Parts: sequence; structure tokens; C-alpha cells
Amino acid sequence: MTTHAIIERIAAIVGPQGLLTDPRDLEPYVVDWRGIYRGASPAVVRPASTGQVAAVVELCAESGTPLVPQGGNTGMCGASVPHATGREIVLSLARMNRVLEVDALNNTMTVEAGCVLANIQQAAAEADRFFPLSLGAEGSCQIGGNLSTNAGGVNVLRYGNTRDLVLGLEVVLPDGRIWNGLRGLRKDNTGYDLKHLFIGAEGTLGVITAAILKLYPRPAATATTWTAVPHPEAALEFLSLLRRHCGDRVTAFELVSRNCLDLVLHHIPGARDPLPKAHDWYVLAELSDSHPGHALRRELEVALEAAIENALVLDAVIAENEAQSRALWRMRESIPEAARAEADMLYRHDIAVAVSKIPEFIREARSALVGRFPGVNIICFGHLGDGNLHYNAFVPGRKRNDAAAREARDVTVVVYDIVQRHHGSFSAEHGIGLAKLDEMRRYKSPVEIELMLTLKHALDPRGIMNPGKVLSGDG
Ligand code: FAD
Ligand code: ZN
Repeated sequence: MTTHAIIERIAAIVGPQGLLTDPRDLEPYVVDWRGIYRGASPAVVRPASTGQVAAVVELCAESGTPLVPQGGNTGMCGASVPHATGREIVLSLARMNRVLEVDALNNTMTVEAGCVLANIQQAAAEADRFFPLSLGAEGSCQIGGNLSTNAGGVNVLRYGNTRDLVLGLEVVLPDGRIWNGLRGLRKDNTGYDLKHLFIGAEGTLGVITAAILKLYPRPAATATTWTAVPHPEAALEFLSLLRRHCGDRVTAFELVSRNCLDLVLHHIPGARDPLPKAHDWYVLAELSDSHPGHALRRELEVALEAAIENALVLDAVIAENEAQSRALWRMRESIPEAARAEADMLYRHDIAVAVSKIPEFIREARSALVGRFPGVNIICFGHLGDGNLHYNAFVPGRKRNDAAAREARDVTVVVYDIVQRHHGSFSAEHGIGLAKLDEMRRYKSPVEIELMLTLKHALDPRGIMNPGKVLSGDG
């Protein structure tokens, strides 16, 4: 079948509103959010129902036409855009954006995969419930994309990753069959738990069309503190102490180095040091509770007093109101923007090690980088409570438009080799896509890669589902 004939048959399935072929309309679908990966595609298909997705995928399977599932196209690894060959069709879930059911007593919500995350949070709030997944892209990313990347975000410490927030899935398999796993059960040990195969698979094993999500009581009170700590070990002890005092109410625990704060103060208009004196390390911590009132703040004060007595915390400020809390969060959230403004060629690492190993990792990585790259500038911050750091660095003088510097992976190899020695992860939150194929080859064991390829070939023998992503040479 020619591409033209395939597109005509797809048009018959999805109708005129379901198909884009004008190159100007295709533009936003073929370039990734960071503008690093640019592909090409003959068409973007926008089905309106699971039945239409299934019919399109079946046709693609029959004709050997590769396809790329796409949500909000905010992913960080180039997984959501087609290759430059121009053969792959983009399958956008954007029109499948309905909340199908809220079951408040079961604390669940059934949604189509194209629902924008912020709309899901809103629908949960309208039912006096809370959907905890929250990240910078929430105004445009879709739940299908969040599931397919197993997104993290700022509430992982208490509520887990996207994987932990799902009870059931509906998936169109690479041959066009529909697997209906939409069960809102908290207990179900009936064989392999298939939904977990598709979560974090970056669209390489099937198209997620709907999900049943877990809901929680709505937080009525929050308390936010910005504290100075002497070193990362003290930050870890402080986390332990805070959890002893406040239990599950600790929802966020972020580490920030002084260097990060300096960059924010320098580049972000209106940024202000929350504390009177400079310190080497900071923690931004947040508590939340479903009970309103001031008890939470009192609890935080008691925990901070104990931490100061034990020399774990050197100084601290507690937000007096919502605006102050937002200002503290802004210091943390502006770090990536400030780093971009400072460094032309930035090496980014989204790493995880066991929470207990974070201080050792920080020490070893610093000493290795400083030894090899004199003058290196390290931008270390992240979700300490999850053992996940955004450990970025730049070498003064290296420019983005300098091809040799762009190719230089030396900084990255130094960092990931240390991560590997600690049995850590070279991609904690963002996935693999196209960006981390080299690391998959270098750090994953042959057994792990073989198991993944076995699953890929079993589910997608024709290799049509987002080929070349996650596993290279999977076709
Ligand atoms: P896309 O980018 O469209 O797709 C991502 C992958 O999922 C691709 O492989 C695609 O093929 C696949 N896919 C999409 N929909 C489906 C589907 N229905 N079925 C099968 N496969 C599908 N991530 C974090 O984890 N934590 C953060 O804090 C965070 N912050 C961010 C902040 C900003 C400003 C931005 C731009 C991104 C951030 N991200 C973060 C990246 C994050 O991975 C994405 O925002 C989000 O999870 C991807 O959703 P999406 O709908 O945009 O998916
Ligand atoms: Zn993060």
C-alpha cells in the first residue's frame, strides 16, 4: 500500500477533523519541546475514540506503517516526535480528552488518555478530592504521556510516581486489539500485572487510551520552610527527623546548593535570598494535611527547633502565607532557567541513587569533575527525599555552537560512571527516548536489555510502535 493509500484509509476511519497533512499544521507535532529533535511525518492522526485508535493501529500493522503516539509533546528525551525519515505517522491523543467518571467513594477517576493533567487536577478538586501528580508542564502534558513516561514531579515523596497513582489501563496493542484493563481495584492478584508493562514504556508497546487514577483527600493546610543546612548529610538527617515528627505529612523535600541560589539571585528578576546570611546548602521542605488550621505550622516549628538543637539546621524561615510559600518555591523552580541563562553548554543529568547514598555521590562527583575539568561549575539541586538529583554542570569556555563541545560526553560519562558504581539510575524522571540510547547500551546489563527486547518483539513483532525509542535496533 502506498503512503497516500494508507492516509486515505485513515481519513475514512477518523474523518476530516481527525487528520492533518498540511506541513504548516504538522510543525508543532514534529519538533520536541526543547527544540533538539526535529523529525518529519506524512500525517498527524487525531482519533476521537478507542475504536478509532484500534482501527488506525490495525491498518498500520497490516501495512507495516510505523507510528508515534503523542500526548502534549512536552517530553524531555525526544520520544514523542518522529524520526527524520518521514515514514512515521504521529498519533495524537489530544481529542480524547474526556473525564469519563469520578467515583468519590472509591477514590478513583476514569479518564481518556488525552486529558491534560491540569484538567484532571481540576476535576478531582471539583469532587473534593486530590490528584497528586504535579509538574511544570501540567498545563499542556496529557495523562497518557505522564503514564508513558512514568512522570515524577514535586509530590513523589508522599504519593509516588505516576505508576503509583494508577489502578487500571485501557491499551490498544500494536496489532490493533484492545486490552481493557480498566479495573478500579486496590487488590487484584490475577496473574501478571500487565498495566505496569505499558507505564514508562514511552509508547513502544502500545497506545494507552484510558486510565483509572487514584484520588486522595484534598490538602487543606500547607506549611513551607526554607532552611540552611551545613552539608548534605545534615539534610538527610533533617529529613529523617522531620518524618519522625510529622510522618506522612512531609510532601516535598528539595536540596539546593548555594551555587544554584547565586545563579537564581543573579539571573531571575525579583529573586531575594530568603535568609540574612549565605550558607553552602539549603532545603526547601513542605508539609501538608487534610485538616485546616495552624497545627501544621506548629508541628513544623517544633521539628525545626529540634533540628537546630541537633545542629542539623543552621537557620530557617517559615512562609507566613501562600504568597511567601510561592516565593520560596520560585527560588527552587527558577534554577533551570537561571542555569540556562548562565551557561551556554550545560551538561544535564537526572540521576537517582539510594537516598542514603546522596551525600557520598555529591562528594565523589564533585571531586572527580573538579579534578578533570578545572573551573567546572556544578549546579546541584533536586528531590533529595526521592534520591533524585538534577546534577548539572558546565565547563567555562565550552560553547553550544562548538561542535566538539557538543559531542563531548566526557562530563556526562564521569557523572554516570559514579552513579553506576552506586547502583543508581541515569534517568530518574524523564525516560530514555532518543536522548539516552548510548547510556542504555553502556550501563544496562545484557540480561536486562535482552528481556526488554523479548517483550518488545512479543508485543510488537512488526516493530511499528514508536520504533528506535528506548531500545536501539529494536525494529
Ligand atoms: P509526550 O511528550 O507527548 O510523550 C512522551 C512519551 O510518551 C513519548 O514516548 C510518547 O510516544 C508517549 N506517549 C504519549 N502519550 C501516549 C499514549 N497515550 N500512549 C502511549 N504512549 C504515549 N517530568 C517529570 O517526570 N517530572 C517533572 O517535574 C517534569 N517537569 C517538566 C517541566 C516542564 C516545563 C516540561 C516541559 C517537562 C517536564 N517533565 C517532567 C517532562 C515530562 O516527561 C512530561 O512533561 C510529561 O510526562 C510527558 O507528557 P506529554 O503528554 O507531554 O507526553
Ligand atoms: Zn525534577
